[in-house]
Amino acid sequence: QATPSHPEPISLPPNTSSAKFHEFLRRASAIVGDENVVVVAGDDQLQQQDYMDRSKVHDMFHILEKEVFLHLCTVAPKDNIMRLANEMEIPVWLFSMGRNLGYRGAAPRVPGSIGLDMGKNMNKVLKVGADSAYALVEPGVSFFDLHQYLVDHDLRDKVWADCPNLGGGSVIGNTMERGIGYTPYGDHWIMHCGLEVVLPDGLLVRTGIGALPNPKADKNARPHEQEPNECWQLFNYGFGPYHDGIFSQSNMGIVIKMGVWLMPNPGGSQTYIITFPRDNDLNRIVEIMRPLRVSMILQNVPKLDNLLVSAAMEGTRSSYINSKELMTDADLDAIAEKLGIGRWNFYGCIYGPPEVREVLWKVIKGAFNQIPGSKFYFPEDRPHDKALQTRKNTFVGIPSITELDWVSWLPNGGHLFFAPIAKLTGDDAEAQYELTRRRSEEFGFDFLGAFLVGVREIHHIVCILFDREDPEMRTRAHDLIKLLIHEAADRGWGEYRANLALMDQVAGTYNFNDSAHMRLSEKIKDALDPKGILSPGKNGVWPTTYKQYNKQI
Ligand code: ADP
Repeated sequence: QATPSHPEPISLPPNTSSAKFHEFLRRASAIVGDENVVVVAGDDQLQQQDYMDRSKVHDMFHILEKEVFLHLCTVAPKDNIMRLANEMEIPVWLFSMGRNLGYRGAAPRVPGSIGLDMGKNMNKVLKVGADSAYALVEPGVSFFDLHQYLVDHDLRDKVWADCPNLGGGSVIGNTMERGIGYTPYGDHWIMHCGLEVVLPDGLLVRTGIGALPNPKADKNARPHEQEPNECWQLFNYGFGPYHDGIFSQSNMGIVIKMGVWLMPNPGGSQTYIITFPRDNDLNRIVEIMRPLRVSMILQNVPKLDNLLVSAAMEGTRSSYINSKELMTDADLDAIAEKLGIGRWNFYGCIYGPPEVREVLWKVIKGAFNQIPGSKFYFPEDRPHDKALQTRKNTFVGIPSITELDWVSWLPNGGHLFFAPIAKLTGDDAEAQYELTRRRSEEFGFDFLGAFLVGVREIHHIVCILFDREDPEMRTRAHDLIKLLIHEAADRGWGEYRANLALMDQVAGTYNFNDSAHMRLSEKIKDALDPKGILSPGKNGVWPTTYKQYNKQI
C-alpha cells in the first residue's frame, strides 16, 4: 500500500511484493529520513535530459527504451543502508553523481533496483594536505567541488586537482570507473591512495595502511568516524594483499572515502596544439609520440582528436553541411580549411618554469616538425578556438562542461562511447581507425574519434553520436557498437569501459582460459555478497542469485 510519505512506484523490484517494498521504504526512511527516499511514481519523473539537471533514475543517453534500465526509487544514505538491503534481499545499484554519460548515467543493470545516491549527503572534501599534495573526499565531491575548494582555500598556488573533460562527475565515481584526465596526474586510478569501503554485508574496511589504526583515534567512536592513520593517503599498499583493485569497475563494495593525490603546482604551464593536414599522417604522429611519451617528455595525457571532434566543438553538423549524406574526405578537408586546423589535432601541455618549458618545447616541436605541413600554436594564437581554450583549462585542472558542446552535433544529441585499448604504435592506431571509421560510415555515422595516450597504450575513444528522439538511429548505433566489440575482440582489442547495455558482451570477450578471470570475479562476488544485492551485473559480474538476468541485449 502507498503511504502518505511514499507513493506507489511504477513497478516493483525483482522478487519483491508491494508490501515488502513498502516495508523497505518505511525502514529506509527511518534510517535516512523521508526526504532521502524518492519513489518514481510516474512518467513525469523520467523527463530530465540535461547534464546539470541530471536524471538519477534513467540513462539520459539510453540506446534501448528508457524504461529498460530504470530505478524505481533512490535512497541517499547518510549511514549504512547495506544491512537493511541485505536483510530484505532487495537489489541496490550505487552511483555517486550519476553523470557517467555515454556509459549509462545513474541507471542500473537490473531494472527496479534501488538507486543508492551516494553523493547527495556525503559530499565533503574531508581534508587537503597541501604540503604532501593529497585530498580525502566523499562520494558527492565533484571535480568542480574539489577545484573550488582549492580556490576557496587559496591552495591553487600549491596544488591542482586533475579533472576529466567534464567537471560535474564525482572524483570517486570517475576514479572507480578508471576514468582519466589530462594533467600528468591524469590516470585517476593510479593517483588514488586509500579507500574506505562498505562491503555488501555492511562491514566497513579501510584499505592499505588505513588498516592500521591511528593511535590517537577515539576507539569508542564509530569506525568511519575514527581519525585515520596519518600515512593512509601517502602510502598505497599497507601489508598483505592489495584489495583496492576489486572495488574498481565492480560491485564488491561502496567507497565512502577516497584519498586522491594532487599535483604540486609545477610553476608554470604552456598549452599547445599541433595540427596535421593529412588523414594518413596518423601513423607517423603516433610513432613520434611513443618515445616522447614513454620517456615522459610528453608530460601529460596527450589527446589526438580527429577533425570532427574539434569541429563539433565549434558548430553542429548542419552548420557545416546541408546534406544528410556521409561526409566525403573532400568535405572534411574543406572543414579543416575553414577552421584552420588539421585532419588530426594534437592537444598537449608542457609543465614547469620557463627554462624547463623552453627545452621541452624545442624537443617536441623538433620531433613533430618532421611531418610536412604540421603547424604549432599556443592558445593566444587562436583566441576563438573553443577546443583549444577549453584544453588550456583542463590541462591545469580547471574543470568545465564546454566539452558537452560536441554532443549537439546532431539534433537531440546523445552518444555512446566505444573505447578499445590499442598498442601505442602507428600501425595499431591506424588499424583501429580504419576499422572503426569504416564500420561507423557503413552504419551511417560520422566518425568522431580521439586517441588518448596513457603511457604505453592508447585509449581510443570513438564517439557514436545519435539523435535521442530517433529510435531507428539508436538501434543502428547499438548494432554498430555490438559489431565493433566483436570485431575488436577478434583482433585482440578490449574495451576499457562499456555502456550498461554492452557490459555482458564486453565481459564475454575477456575469456582467456575458459573465462578464468570472470570465474574469479564471480567467486569473489559470491563470497562477499552471498545474496547478490549490490549492483548485480555490473561489468558483467553476476552473482549466482541473479544469473538469470545475464543475457546479452
Ligand atoms: P559520476 O560520478 O561520474 O557521475 P556515477 O556516479 O554515475 O559517475 O558512477 C559511475 C560508476 O562508478 C558507478 O556505476 C559505480 O560503478 C562507480 N561508483 C560510483 N560511486 C562509487 C562509490 N562510491 N563506490 C564504488 N563505486 C562507485
